[in-house]
Amino acid sequence: MEKAIIGIDIGGTNTVIGIFDRDLALLEKVSIPTLKPNFPAITNNPKEYFDLLTYEITKLADKNGYQDRIQCVGIGVPGKINPKKGIAIRAVNLGYRDVPFADEMKNRLQVPVFIDNDVRTYTRGEAQAGAGKGYNNLISITIGTGMAASVMIDGNMVVGSDFFAGEIGHDPVQGVETLCNCGKKGCLETIASATGISRLATEAIQTNQSTILKEIERPITSKDVYEAALKGDKVALEVFDYVGKTLGYKLLSAIYLVNPDVIIIGGGGAQAGKLITNPVEEIIKENYLNDKLPQVKIGQLGDSAGLIGAASLAIANK
Ligand SMILES: [Zn+2]
Repeated sequence: MEKAIIGIDIGGTNTVIGIFDRDLALLEKVSIPTLKPNFPAITNNPKEYFDLLTYEITKLADKNGYQDRIQCVGIGVPGKINPKKGIAIRAVNLGYRDVPFADEMKNRLQVPVFIDNDVRTYTRGEAQAGAGKGYNNLISITIGTGMAASVMIDGNMVVGSDFFAGEIGHDPVQGVETLCNCGKKGCLETIASATGISRLATEAIQTNQSTILKEIERPITSKDVYEAALKGDKVALEVFDYVGKTLGYKLLSAIYLVNPDVIIIGGGGAQAGKLITNPVEEIIKENYLNDKLPQVKIGQLGDSAGLIGAASLAIANK
């Protein structure tokens, strides 16, 4: 009898669980709260969360006619992950330290379980069925509250010597002094993130530049800046241009190293579309010597990319 594949995307607030048929078509997905210890507590075994996941996976399989017929489970976890041993080494936003994630879930479900970093599962999803379909060499970045990247070379996901590959968000931008969440100054993610976009716009307002953003009487969000840019607001357009170009220069080094077919931009920041991709493309065009330029694309799968990628991670390893 045909079996189902489970893909899970864990976020800081919510966890989305998807059930797929053997052709990786999504049958149904559910969203549940991510259970985590109260900050600043840290756990190495979130038992209640594992029990909740097991309950929800079993319920989803039963409901879709796959009772006791789960083939494998793949999970994207935000943080530093060892996909080979299935351990969440450090997940700051979840309060995890050295959690034997895959083994704990495997013991409960009695099927193979695989985990990886959520940016890598995102990339797998886009490579499987989205903007990266048909390409073997790609760089993808996700722009949200923070930012991170992941790299696929010759069809293989790069994890690095101790699973830290892709953490470009903490690469410092010369001359920038803004304090990052990590404690360092001037990290790329202090600029190329939703946080960075709202901060840059707020700073521009404080220097008394003329902008429609001045009319907003609450803290400026990245969405406000996006909407102002669509209306042609000069300050908002300049913010996106600076963010895109700063990102473009950082990506340029990676492009020279990897020679990718495609750069995929995802996460909430991808909604900015051409406001981000145009300046990135401009920097690449001006500075990349190769005849063939990598395409710069916005991710096509949105929130589903992480789910599809997690399912395809499980299929690839089972
Ligand atoms: Zn940082």
